Amino acid sequence: MTMMNPISTMASITSLKVLPEEFILQPDEREFFRNQRSGDLAFRTTAYYFSLINIKNPDDPIRKQCLPSSREHNKLSVESSDPLAEKLYSPLPRLIHRYPSRVLIRLTGVCAMHCRFCYRRELLDHETAPLEREDFQNILKYIQNQQEINEVLISGGDPLTLPNDVLEYYFSTLRKAAPHVVIRLCTRIPVVQPLRIDADLVGMLKKIKGLWVVTHYNHPRELTDISCEKIALLKEAGITILNQSVLLKGINDREEILLQLFRKLSHQGIKPYYLFQTDLARGTTHFRVDLKRGINLYGALQKKLSQLMLPVYALDLPQGGGKIQLNQNSIIGKENDFYLLSDQQGRSYCYPVAEQLL
Ligand code: SF4
Repeated sequence: MTMMNPISTMASITSLKVLPEEFILQPDEREFFRNQRSGDLAFRTTAYYFSLINIKNPDDPIRKQCLPSSREHNKLSVESSDPLAEKLYSPLPRLIHRYPSRVLIRLTGVCAMHCRFCYRRELLDHETAPLEREDFQNILKYIQNQQEINEVLISGGDPLTLPNDVLEYYFSTLRKAAPHVVIRLCTRIPVVQPLRIDADLVGMLKKIKGLWVVTHYNHPRELTDISCEKIALLKEAGITILNQSVLLKGINDREEILLQLFRKLSHQGIKPYYLFQTDLARGTTHFRVDLKRGINLYGALQKKLSQLMLPVYALDLPQGGGKIQLNQNSIIGKENDFYLLSDQQGRSYCYPVAEQLL
């Protein structure tokens, strides 16, 4: 049985006023709220996710993912509001075309929870309306005209914050316009608001042929009984589920935590797909695991997990350099406080040495 603290409903939490009396803010959390600045990512979580916090532990990994910290005000010059340079690869509003064979559509900038490490954190509060139908039609024409595209990622924000009838419109229209593409639905809802996954939603998703769901569990404690029940509903509907995690300092950057996470995911029939090194989003320095340490950690996992349970450890290179897999040979040099990395074309990129930046 999963233990929960007193709040346990579907509601969102956006204000400190609704937190239970026994919940005591840590100094860095209090400082954030006292000193909130324009451009800060607003506090937003779900009552469900909040209920998973062990309130006696100031370093609780659930707490750290949803409670803001004044450390977010520590913004480094190497960090960016658009760390993957998505604007460069956006031929149409809400469309990203970074790789020849796939595109990503941001249906909405709304999320059930504002994860404090999110690399799209500076977009979330702006794209609050769903993608306009006219913009969507233009995107469909774009996909139809680009023969190479065979995969469409539906992302956000979190698409599952939209009502079922709106989602059905997007999915069925896309399916009709581009019957050949695989659709990848990226969502954190099973983690932060599993009750959203009900028979109506699953029934609608079941009708979409070629649909894969990509979840985002970062810690084994997020795989609660209710979350696993909802995953089982999706599996029973014949939907294949993958998971991407982010390697986060003080949250999951320990061998035993990651082993437990990937084993638990696999046991639920979720394939661990990616483990991401954090992107250089502004105000996320305190979540960054040193790259060399991350590579060593991954090496330890490789010795203990089969390919079935082991995700790919990857980094989206800064300035839109694209994704690379990380392994013992990835670091090709070091200059001052930066590791040097190379893409497939041999171009080099800098990624900061984490410990020296803190
Ligand atoms: S759910 Fe995803 S997009 Fe939304 S804040 Fe969390 S990580 Fe970012």
